[in-house]
Amino acid sequence: MPKINEILSGAAAIAKGMSITFGEMLNPVITDDYPDAPPVFQERYRGLHILQRDDNGLEKCVACFLCSAACPAQCIYIEAADNTGQLRISGGERYAEVYNIDYSRCIFCGYCVEACPTDAITHGHGFELASYNTSTLIYRKEKLLAALPDGVSGQLKLDHAVSVSGGGH
Ligand code: SF4
Ligand code: SF4
Repeated sequence: MPKINEILSGAAAIAKGMSITFGEMLNPVITDDYPDAPPVFQERYRGLHILQRDDNGLEKCVACFLCSAACPAQCIYIEAADNTGQLRISGGERYAEVYNIDYSRCIFCGYCVEACPTDAITHGHGFELASYNTSTLIYRKEKLLAALPDGVSGQLKLDHAVSVSGGGH
């Protein structure tokens, strides 16, 4: 037969639990209405990557491969090319002619973002990437690039590149 103090401690535990339940019932509901309304993300949320541009619309990526080297899932594929006097894509000596991220492998660890010396790759808040076809999970540079900034010339907007005079390095 249970002792009286065991009964009392059991009742106290139930009362404590119910006090939390009733307290939560009075708090505002924080459930998101997704997909009827866009979800709210914390600023630090690590979603789909964005390849950033500078104020002139040039790509910040200089094809140094540090992000690829830091990636534990080996899901970043880069092919580098040189900027020239006729065609400048990035602000550095080289740019990423090809930049792919395989999201069937990415674990959103953020190591690539940490490794990048030019802040070229960042996490956005995109998350809707589910697919029945894994080949669609390889995102190319064209899909990852940030939009051109306002006020950038029409030619840059058309070509994704800007010509410079007097050499490209
Ligand atoms: S978030 Fe992590 S796994 Fe994904 S590309 Fe970057 S380093 Fe690789
Ligand atoms: S995204 Fe950054 S780390 Fe990766 S190749 Fe470009 S400049 Fe280098």
